[in-house]
Amino acid sequence: MTPTSAHYLLRVDDLCPTVKRKPWLRLSALIAESNLKPILAVVPDNRDSELYISEPEESFWQQMCDLQQAGAAIALHGYQHRAESRAPSLVPLHRKSEFAGVSALTQRTWIRLGLDILRSHGLNPTIWAAPRHGFDRNTLKALREEGITALSDGFARRPFLRGGLTWIPQQLWGPLEKRIGLWTICLHVNTITARQFDEFAAFVRQHAAQFISVDEALAEFSPSPLTLLENLRENASYARIAASRFKRQMNSRFHRQRDPQGALRPPTRAQVQQPSNSSPPATPDTVPRAGQAQPPG
Ligand SMILES: [Zn+2]
Repeated sequence: MTPTSAHYLLRVDDLCPTVKRKPWLRLSALIAESNLKPILAVVPDNRDSELYISEPEESFWQQMCDLQQAGAAIALHGYQHRAESRAPSLVPLHRKSEFAGVSALTQRTWIRLGLDILRSHGLNPTIWAAPRHGFDRNTLKALREEGITALSDGFARRPFLRGGLTWIPQQLWGPLEKRIGLWTICLHVNTITARQFDEFAAFVRQHAAQFISVDEALAEFSPSPLTLLENLRENASYARIAASRFKRQMNSRFHRQRDPQGALRPPTRAQVQQPSNSSPPATPDTVPRAGQAQPPG
């Protein structure tokens, strides 16, 4: 069955005990107030200094358990959130990743260790959410072998079957009204600005009834392999993202050449709001408005 109106799913990335406290408190309050049932992408054993924002929060794991109890889905967000591998990903948004290109045995080991850590804190991870969207066929095999049957990624407009797993598409990094389909909005608590948070909160309040859980999404849509047209559309999205990234890089190189002293000036407001490692998708279907893009992570 294909629903006649759009549904939204919230995904929160980079959760670990050192997540930036203030925006996380605001977001968790919004989740409770609006009865959202998000995907919580939790890093089992964070070793990424960029995710070390606040001092470790003692109650972090209990907070995750409470949210899981309230209907959130727990996603395994990699293992240590390092990005030391350079290899093509099945979702080509970043050049470096933690998993893509790593040996099958190591990937299986990392996934098992990550699952064990989350389970040791009382969580029940049911989904894979790759850091930087980086994973390959060996990742899919390892996930299947470890009993994980769903992942959050891809640019379709509905959940679909591929590589022996159910893919729950993840196409947005900020609020955007859609007519039909399932749209996952991924937020990065560590980098979200106050303005972006306010925009998201207003969107949630306006569309609260359209936000659903993973279980509801899988019940509402019947996952099946993508059609040829849907596959073509997905590939076109990736091509547009690559073209957009290339254009941004050329623009930035052009401005550096014209203004070699620019690095000595204070950053503009837009530069402050746009993290340096950002590779925001910018397709008509995904993130067309400025300020919505967060770095896929
Ligand atoms: Zn991440």
